[in-house]
Amino acid sequence: MRNNLEKWTTQKSSELYGVENWSSGYFHINEQGELAISPFEDKKNAVSIPEIISGLKARGLELPVLLRIENLLDGQLAKLHASFASAIKELQYKGEYRGVFPIKVNQQQQVIKEMAAAGAPLKHGFEVGSKAELVIALSYLKNKEACLICNGYKDTDYIDLALYACKMGYNCILVLEMPSEVNLILERSQKLAIRPRLGIRIKVSTHGGGHWAESAGDLSIFGLSTSDVIDALDMLKQTEMLDCMQLVHFHLGSQLPNIRDIRTAVKEAARMYIELYKEGCQMGYLDLGGGLAVDYDGSHSNFPSSRNYGLDEYCLDTVEAIMYTLDQENIPHPHIITESGRATVAYSSILLFNVIDVSRLEDRQIPEKLSEDEPESIHNLLEVYLSLTLKNLQECYNDAIFYRDEVRQLFRLGKCTLRQRSTSERIFWAIIKKIAEMTKELKTLPSALKDIHLPLASIYYCNISIFQSLPDSWAIDHLFPIVPLHRLQEEPTERVILADITCDSDGKINNFIDTHGVKRVLEAHPIEEGKAYYMGAFLVGAYQETLGDLHNLFGDTNIVSVRINTDGTFDVVHEQQGDSVADILSYVEYDPRYVFEQFRNAAEASIREGKTTPQERFQIMQAYDRILQGYTYLNE
Ligand code: PLP
Repeated sequence: MRNNLEKWTTQKSSELYGVENWSSGYFHINEQGELAISPFEDKKNAVSIPEIISGLKARGLELPVLLRIENLLDGQLAKLHASFASAIKELQYKGEYRGVFPIKVNQQQQVIKEMAAAGAPLKHGFEVGSKAELVIALSYLKNKEACLICNGYKDTDYIDLALYACKMGYNCILVLEMPSEVNLILERSQKLAIRPRLGIRIKVSTHGGGHWAESAGDLSIFGLSTSDVIDALDMLKQTEMLDCMQLVHFHLGSQLPNIRDIRTAVKEAARMYIELYKEGCQMGYLDLGGGLAVDYDGSHSNFPSSRNYGLDEYCLDTVEAIMYTLDQENIPHPHIITESGRATVAYSSILLFNVIDVSRLEDRQIPEKLSEDEPESIHNLLEVYLSLTLKNLQECYNDAIFYRDEVRQLFRLGKCTLRQRSTSERIFWAIIKKIAEMTKELKTLPSALKDIHLPLASIYYCNISIFQSLPDSWAIDHLFPIVPLHRLQEEPTERVILADITCDSDGKINNFIDTHGVKRVLEAHPIEEGKAYYMGAFLVGAYQETLGDLHNLFGDTNIVSVRINTDGTFDVVHEQQGDSVADILSYVEYDPRYVFEQFRNAAEASIREGKTTPQERFQIMQAYDRILQGYTYLNE
């Protein structure tokens, strides 16, 4: 048992949840034990997240809420540019850094608008991978010097619009992704009499590791093989358009955990750049794609949810690798483009949610004595419970499972009653709890008892749909830092897994960040009767918002953007009501008015049948309409 005099502190919570490791300085626990956002160096003027929640509630916005903090997007963009600027200065590199934001990482209008505004003075452009994304980029991009990189498969309409963009003076570069695109682009360019700026996506042979390792290598679905590159160059030569080719692009994969892989791939791409230069292309840009990782678990390791490098190291290493390779051949330094997506937007969104219920193994009384007619296996279970000592933990654990299973078998054969089975389960769980408690005194834990705490974890039911709001957690077990937002000056004595409110067995989170691997349970505080308990999933600004579906017909959550002021206050700069039930029904092709009418007919019929009164019909229809017009998530 922990010494009671040893007081729990906010510092201990900070260590437990690894806040300093993953927050990049943007979040901390304040003296009141609340998670606070600190976009500025001066932590004094931070804003507490529970305070933001009260502010939103006062404005009638209920949880769950996807909170976007615009300052953090600006902050990350500024950091990225500052790191590249400092690497370029330190190494005396002759080119510039020209970042682009890949729209697919978060296409939401508020994010793109903020990215365009914060990016304009930095010449930060957009990367697009489809016609729809090109349409967005062209209407939001403010600085025409910023790059507009056109990736993805292209048809005539896509190519035509990109060519018009070139004509209008946008720094728009069409990247050849497929051998067949070369002919089509040349044809359209001749037809419209617009000379394109071209890039070429190469398949690098390096593998990136992590979840998205398949994005590179010979079998990657995008990019040109070396023979395709030669064919494309010959074709450009024949049509006297070799000078249009200006850029080499590669994408090793997203969330690259290992800096060595990045360096190797950058060198390979730089070699390709040299070759294109020597072939006569008027090269000017080397595009390193995405991949700059986010340290979601704060372990600073090459674990898939982490990275073994910092931002400064990434910038220094990539600039140095390019410079080193090109200087050997005396080739002028290109502008460096990165298509960093998650590293620019992950920090700026937090999913805020409340816990609505708890299910835990209850502490039920076990009988001191059993009657003679109870089955022998139950007697044996009680015997196991009474004989438990530190020395026989493993043996008792094995026996408990054996006798518990025996009772289950007897039940199946009709030789044991429901009450007897319930007695056996109570004794069994009492044994497991006692063993789990006693293991704390062991120096080394037998491997069979390693996960003994797991079945004892409580389930915290959270007012979210994981499929809708954290699709990567659902689909690829991606880890996000999940932390209680308040009561962090108290010791979190519960061990929990999280379940959502969809009736889906996959709607749960039972993997949590840990600096030494993955934790199967999360420490949380016991829920207090009648009081709200808030949690947050952090670093969810990249990829999570658009992938989710209408699972169980839980729709979009409320979305609120705030800007934090230097005096520690905050302004709500944009809010978007989440979907109502009527909205969701219309997405899946119902007509909410028809649905309402149908039910009204049924309510009228029940008056005719004498089951309800007209007044009751009024109340029933009000209740129906309240749900139809209301939020899809649970009301607090
Ligand atoms: N560029 C391309 C071509 C991509 O496919 C991706 C995502 O996979 C990105 C950029 C963004 O990658 P990240 O978010 O890891 O920076």
